Formats: sequence, C-alpha cells, structure tokens
Amino acid sequence: MAVERTLGIIKPNALNDDVLGKVITHYEKAGLKIAAMKMTHLTKEKAEGFYIEHKERPFFGGLVNFMTSAPCVLVVIEGDNAVLRNREIMGDTNPADADEGTIRKLYAKSMQANAIHGSDSQTSAEREIAFFFEKGEIFTRF
Ligand code: AMP
Repeated sequence: MAVERTLGIIKPNALNDDVLGKVITHYEKAGLKIAAMKMTHLTKEKAEGFYIEHKERPFFGGLVNFMTSAPCVLVVIEGDNAVLRNREIMGDTNPADADEGTIRKLYAKSMQANAIHGSDSQTSAEREIAFFFEKGEIFTRF
C-alpha cells in the first residue's frame, strides 16, 4: 500500500467542546500518524482561500464565519492510503448521515460545525498541505 499524506483540520466546535485529544486518538487508533500539527486562528482571508472552490455556494459566508470564530488545529496525517482511511474514520459531511463510531457522528453539531476537515483526494491533499505548511515543518518518517 502507498504511504500518503493528507490534511486534517480539527474545527472550532471540536476545540470549544474540548475533544481535541479524542479526535487525535481516532487518527492514532486507525494507524494514521501525525506528521505535523499547529493550532491557529484562521483569518478571513486564509479561510476564504482554503475554501475557494465553494465561493459561489450559499453556505460559503457562514462556513468562513464559523472557521474564523475560534482556533483550529491543522494536522498533516500520514499512513497507508491516508486520504481514504481518514475519510472513512471521519464519517459523512452531514453528521445525521455519518456511521456510528465515526468522528463526525460523535463530535459534529451540524453540516457546518462538523468537527473536522479531511482532504478528499491526493491532489487536494497536496494543495491543502502546502496551503498551511512549509516542507520543513513536516516530520518525515519515510
Ligand atoms: P468539503 O470541501 O467537502 O470539505 O466541504 C467544505 C465544508 O463545507 C464541509 O466540511 C462543511 O463544513 C461545509 N458544508 C458543506 N456543505 C454544506 C451545507 N450544505 N451547509 C453548510 N455547510 C456545508
């Protein structure tokens, strides 16, 4: 299997609910390793840039407001098939549709306050990791 990297964002509602450690534990139990991590309070400019593909969607303004309402924790996650594996443990975007035991089923409040982000493809992962991290900030294990 291919070792990949993907970007996770632990969103403001998860930090406000003090479940940061629990979310990290989900990654670790899934065999995914943390290659880099930083806490940051996103600026409006940074949040808009990150979600630029959704700029025309009706939820865009609310999403940017939510993402800038409190700090986030950005993580580079690595492991075998990390993009897909991370998507599996995250659960559906809408927590009402998320499988039992997934991070969103446990910690999401709504479609917007859905606890975490995870890159949806290797191409997205590369863009998203580079959007937040310098190469030298990522701990290399392979
Ligand atoms: P994605 O690029 O798939 O990660 O989607 C970006 C984020 O937008 C999701 O994680 C949700 O937080 C939010 N989102 C997506 N669809 C909706 C929606 N219909 N209403 C509110 N927020 C949404």
